[in-house]
Amino acid sequence: MNKYQLMFPASLILMAAGFFLGVYGFFAKNWFFCIGVGIFVAGLLLLGTWITKAYTYICKDCYMRIDVGVAQGLRALPAGNGCRRIYCPKCRHKTACKSRRISLRRYVF
Ligand SMILES: [Zn+2]
Repeated sequence: MNKYQLMFPASLILMAAGFFLGVYGFFAKNWFFCIGVGIFVAGLLLLGTWITKAYTYICKDCYMRIDVGVAQGLRALPAGNGCRRIYCPKCRHKTACKSRRISLRRYVF
C-alpha cells in the first residue's frame, strides 16, 4: 500500500463529499456551497493526477507512448474498448489511444 494506491479512493471520497456539501450549501444558501465546490475541484485534480500516474497511452497509428497531463487526462473522451481520444504530437491529430496501466509499485520508494 502506497500513497498512489490511496489517491484513487481518496479522490472519489473528496468529490462525493464536495458534491453533497455543495448541494446542501446551494439549497441552504450559505458558504458551504463554496467549500463544497472547492473540495470537489480538489478531488477532481487529485483524480486527474492519479490518472497521469496510473495510466499511459499508446497511439494506435504510430505506437508512440503518450504521457498525458492532468487537464488532458480529465478532458480526453472515451473512445471505447479501453481507448481514449488523445492528441498525438507525432501524428498531429487526435487519435484513439490504447490505455495501459502502469504498475504503481515502482513509486513505493
Ligand atoms: Zn500517433
